[in-house]
Amino acid sequence: MAALSGRSSAVSSPSSLDERPSVVVVGAGPTGLLVAADLVRRSVGCLLIDGHDAPLGWDRATIVHARTIEIFEALGLADQILDQAVRIRGSRLRSDMQTLGTLDLGSADGRYGMDLVSLRTSPSRS
Ligand SMILES: Cc1cc2nc3c(=O)[nH]c(=O)nc-3n(C[C@H](O)[C@H](O)[C@H](O)COP(=O)(O)OP(=O)(O)OC[C@H]3O[C@@H](n4cnc5c(N)ncnc54)[C@H](O)[C@@H]3O)c2cc1C
Repeated sequence: MAALSGRSSAVSSPSSLDERPSVVVVGAGPTGLLVAADLVRRSVGCLLIDGHDAPLGWDRATIVHARTIEIFEALGLADQILDQAVRIRGSRLRSDMQTLGTLDLGSADGRYGMDLVSLRTSPSRS
């Protein structure tokens, strides 16, 4: 198991952590990482632990969906992420040189009629 203390940046074995966090976040996937990062941002000490000893090493969030952008907006992070991502307003599904269908992301509910592809390494490589 790996653990990351919210007041230090080093990954440690749980036995070497001598702090008393206010919150323990179990699971260092995108959900746990976001919760832990927001707690630290709000000066709440937290301990993030995961059953895996190391990141899995492959990307599991290439696409950031519109609803996720709204959550980033609520956290004050949307502008920074929008600046660093490629915007996708639609997609076309093709096979054997034929178009099977199209998807217009602008027709979805919500403020952001698009998905994003991150230009940076995704946090979902946990
Ligand atoms: C190949 C692939 C591609 C994907 N691409 C996209 C994409 O482009 N866009 C997108 O939005 N989504 C994508 N997804 C989905 C996305 O990865 C998941 O929605 C996301 O990972 C869910 O995050 P999570 O933190 O809730 O759970 P998880 O990522 O599953 O993380 C949970 C973590 O908790 C740990 N854990 C669980 N139980 C315990 C326990 N009892 N003790 C200790 N640790 C524990 C696990 O080890 C794990 O690290 C993709 C998924 C896959 C598999």
